[in-house]
Amino acid sequence: MSATIIDGKAFAEKVRTQVAAHVSRLKDEHGITPGLAVVLVGEDPASEVYVRNKGKQTLEVGMNSFEHKLPAEISEADLLELIDRLNNDPAVHGILVQLPLPGHLNSDLVINSIDPAKDVDGFHISNVGLLGTGQKSMVPCTPLGCLMMLRDHLGALSGLNAVVVGRSNIVGKPMAQLLLGDSCTVTIAHSRTKDLAEVCRRADILVAAVGRPEMIPGDWVKPGATVIDVGINRIPAPEKGEGKHRLVGDVEFASAAEVAGAITPVPGGVGPMTIACLLANTVTACCRANGLAEPEGLTA
Ligand code: NAP
Repeated sequence: MSATIIDGKAFAEKVRTQVAAHVSRLKDEHGITPGLAVVLVGEDPASEVYVRNKGKQTLEVGMNSFEHKLPAEISEADLLELIDRLNNDPAVHGILVQLPLPGHLNSDLVINSIDPAKDVDGFHISNVGLLGTGQKSMVPCTPLGCLMMLRDHLGALSGLNAVVVGRSNIVGKPMAQLLLGDSCTVTIAHSRTKDLAEVCRRADILVAAVGRPEMIPGDWVKPGATVIDVGINRIPAPEKGEGKHRLVGDVEFASAAEVAGAITPVPGGVGPMTIACLLANTVTACCRANGLAEPEGLTA
């Protein structure tokens, strides 16, 4: 293996330490405690784990955490009423509605009812538009984490060829906008892209956000490229015992690490950065709400 391993776990720890320092300063100098409200509808076990981790890490950096667990059958009107209350609560600087929502709720309507200034997931249509037009916005957490790692590893990204495989609203599209914002030459690939292997081989920066286990082999990677693997896929691992699973990315790690200059592992790469960036976004939102200088290095 020749690639440098980009340690997302260690990087996320660094981001959390920076966030905690800002929180402490906000408390000491301004008497303000940033607050993050997380809304969970229903009892999806994976979502419950995410929400628990978010709450725990929010408290660990010294912020207030407000958890709202709602029954799966809650009406849209009641959910919108809660969001309206959170929008108007000065102790709440960030609001996150855990997705996916049960089928009877209109996710777009719910997300777009969040005050864009408190939309720490960056999914509100106003934030999408602001990011697309290069204006100050709330940036979706996973692509923000990828950008931070790329800047940290490569320094200036200007002029590099970036290929983003995947065009979801949550990862692929905002990732491409961020790379464009840093003056990369960006290609967005997807399931209809012709000769994907060849497209990937042109990438100085290759971001895989597909959701297909180990789809990208090492011979699709340009020698020396920086590979960011967003994929989180659970595959059977009979070698660990019957019924056991393991996590793999969208990139075939072993072969890609032979060719790439640097690569994020799965697990321990992009994954840990997402919650760290959520905390960073909440501090940013709190500073903006109070007319204070934003923390440096924690936004796009
Ligand atoms: P998604 O909404 O399902 O989008 C997947 C994208 O991949 C689509 O744009 C799709 O193209 C494209 N695609 C599918 N098959 C392809 C193929 N054979 N060749 C090229 N492109 C193909 O997924 P997502 O929400 O962006 O998530 C992607 C992965 O990242 C998942 O594994 C997810 O678990 C992971 N993820 C991780 C984090 C984290 O680390 N915290 C956060 C979010 C997501 P079309 O648009 O043409 O269908």
